[in-house]
Amino acid sequence: MRAVRRFTVRASLPESLSGLGDLATNLRWTWHPPTRDLFASMDAELFNRVRDPLRMLTALPPARLDELAVDDAFLAHAREAVADLDRYLAEPRWYQKQDDPDLPPAVAYFSMEFGVTEALPNYSGGLGVLAGDHLKAASDLGVPMVGVGLLYRAGYFRQALSLDGWQVEHYPVIDPNAFPLELLTDGGEPVLVDVAMPAGRTLHAQIWKARVGRIPLLLLDTDTEANDEDLRAVTDRLYGGDADHRIRQEILSGIGGFRAVRRYCELTGHPQPKVFHTNEGHAGFLGLERAREIIQADGLAFDEALPAVRAGTVFTTHTPVSAGIDRFPVDLVQRYFTDGRLVPDVDPRRVLALGAEDNPGLFNMAHMGLRLAQRANGVSALHGRVSRRMFSRLWPGFDFDEVPVSSVTNGVHGPTWVARELSALLGRNHEELGLDGAQGKPLRDGVTDEQLWALRRELREKLVAEVRRRVRAAWMQRGASALELGWTDTVFDPDVLTVGFARRVPTYKRLTLMLRDPDRLRALLLDERRPIQLVVAGKSHPADEGGKQLIQQIVRFVDDPEVRRRIVFLPDYDMSMARYLYRGCDVWLNTPVRQLEACGTSGMKSALNGGLNLSIRDGWWDECYDGSNGWAIPTADGVTDPLRRDELEAAALYDLLGHQIAPLFYDRGADGVPGGWLSMVWHTLETLGPRVQASRMVREYVESGYLPASRMVAEATGDGYRGALSLADYRTKLDVSWPRVRIFDTELLVEDSAPMVTGTEVTIRARIDLAGLEPSEVDVQAVVGKVGDGDELSDPVTVGMSGDGIGAFAARLKLPHPGSIGYTVRVLPKHRLLATPAELARVVHA
Ligand SMILES: *Cc1c(COP(=O)(O)O)cnc(C)c1O
Repeated sequence: MRAVRRFTVRASLPESLSGLGDLATNLRWTWHPPTRDLFASMDAELFNRVRDPLRMLTALPPARLDELAVDDAFLAHAREAVADLDRYLAEPRWYQKQDDPDLPPAVAYFSMEFGVTEALPNYSGGLGVLAGDHLKAASDLGVPMVGVGLLYRAGYFRQALSLDGWQVEHYPVIDPNAFPLELLTDGGEPVLVDVAMPAGRTLHAQIWKARVGRIPLLLLDTDTEANDEDLRAVTDRLYGGDADHRIRQEILSGIGGFRAVRRYCELTGHPQPKVFHTNEGHAGFLGLERAREIIQADGLAFDEALPAVRAGTVFTTHTPVSAGIDRFPVDLVQRYFTDGRLVPDVDPRRVLALGAEDNPGLFNMAHMGLRLAQRANGVSALHGRVSRRMFSRLWPGFDFDEVPVSSVTNGVHGPTWVARELSALLGRNHEELGLDGAQGKPLRDGVTDEQLWALRRELREKLVAEVRRRVRAAWMQRGASALELGWTDTVFDPDVLTVGFARRVPTYKRLTLMLRDPDRLRALLLDERRPIQLVVAGKSHPADEGGKQLIQQIVRFVDDPEVRRRIVFLPDYDMSMARYLYRGCDVWLNTPVRQLEACGTSGMKSALNGGLNLSIRDGWWDECYDGSNGWAIPTADGVTDPLRRDELEAAALYDLLGHQIAPLFYDRGADGVPGGWLSMVWHTLETLGPRVQASRMVREYVESGYLPASRMVAEATGDGYRGALSLADYRTKLDVSWPRVRIFDTELLVEDSAPMVTGTEVTIRARIDLAGLEPSEVDVQAVVGKVGDGDELSDPVTVGMSGDGIGAFAARLKLPHPGSIGYTVRVLPKHRLLATPAELARVVHA
């Protein structure tokens, strides 16, 4: 018999074990090994299989629970764990110690996916895992954050392979009751948030809460009886199918998400967020809802509310190519907004204008993100530069490096990704990895090369066991019989140089670059003296046939009996597999087309475990590669033919592997230890360790994002929205005056007989018609820089010019550079609610 519907009943715990429920439902266990040990001690074999404390409690036979309920040693251990969690949740941490009254009382963090643990499969890849790491680090730092997203009933597809190596997908449907989630209720009834749909309909969502240490994560779920049948499916899977499905998800996550946060804070007394951070632009509609709230509560006009909304919004873009930006047909957006029910009192024409781009038929979510956020950033230094260039059309008249998009380089959550054996060896408190001040002694103190090498081998050995298990399981799944799989026991070798490559499979990541010259790859793998073994994993988007073909190419190569002991493709890359790879691989390989990887984080996780990166200089590696923490694969810059480029870069990759990496790894001292290799490992642990931590990233967001945003919100909203109203007025005034602002009669004066050498003082003068603006309302600047053939200024030095009140402006400055020098004068808006002079995208040049 088959069940028509399934549901989950949680175990009822004996009174003395009730604390275990809290331990199992707070996801802190994912980065707190002692809590996992406690659950493992209930039944090690079972825990090893389920790897999830909550499922453990359900799966454990009641008799065993009764036994534990009177086991004094176990109970003492459990009490200790509960007390430790309580302390972690309540004690003042970094944020509380800042003692800065301007810090926001709470920050809401919006993301379409959250990868906290494989036990809550609500992510598809790097973006989600990053969001999970962001929440965990915020928790460790004590940042009062609320995460907001959607709960997908079939969130995460599982990947298997057909016999001929084609990706096959399964979509397991989850029952939220079986997951570490709690339904938000009020008086016993589920709390619902509503958003209006076209044709007078309403979409309802219930709210599930996950606990990520100190951080509540709210996940909206439309699978409720309150909804019409078709609307129940809005959160059926991650990144819906067609544009309509997707815009509903984005409307729900932004507008519904904001309403959920409001309700949650009202119900629980959690402080209301003052700053809103959107991880990618999907939740961008939230700014409209915040404007609506201000308009309705305080009677402001949209333009007057806008500065307050912008002040409190931080927008992080992750997309380095314009084709990757989320866009909707304008008429689709119109369909949701024109009847005015979705965000009442916000003029639908204003909504459309926020997403305007070059193509008048498209609504651009990133553009809306930038227009609704005063602070925006990319996710690595290089990606910041790429983004400034990509979005520069929104700031005409400004140089690329003045475009107000900064960068905060991503980081990864140390306690989640670092092998606990490594923290133990280095004498680190595992749970506090990445937090300053907690770690004391220098890393190498009292730890020998032999010990580190033995540990690296141990981690490699664990990976080898996992590889064998997974290769065998994959073959069984592809239809092989156990009898023909004896060879899988000898796949991989714990003493062979192990290279890992695992990622999603969009074309730019070039999964198959390593196959460019199969003979050379084969020779590297099968080298008698210095063999290499290569573990590959990755999922293709289910609709991406090209990606599936790449996977098939790899699988066909690895299926060859000649090489299959040295190269494997592991299906179903996810967090549980990833851990083994990041910890056990000696070298982490990454071969994107340069500038197409915004940051990349898997290499960071490898580095934290002493893996050395071998990567194209892209994303984080462009700023972190220092010549002795790994290798940079030279890029064929300027080669426009992609095939030729791939060929050159693949050849460089083989050269590095064969001539530098393998020789260094196998160059052993008398003690069998590769000293040269280990000095790179030590250097990586010491120097990259602190830089790639998510705690560093979150601190940067606090300092350069949340704190200034919170100050600006206070400026904008204080005293009856005085700042916001003043900026709105100022913008109106600019609309009238700005087109008539003129600069004329600019001149550069050198004192009589002064030599024209660097350092000579000069005066730059100009007459300016401010068209009715006050001198205090503008920033007049003299800019001096080098000039090349095109009169383009480079390395500019900017000096403010002061006026005499009747239109003459002057500045004195020292000639900054030798050689060909040019200067200009420009006028920029000035208002205390602007974060940068470029913000309003207005500038007048001489
Ligand atoms: C870290 C991580 C990623 C992201 O890695 P990239 O280097 O950005 O490709 C993807 N999937 C999982 C499971 C991860 O842990």
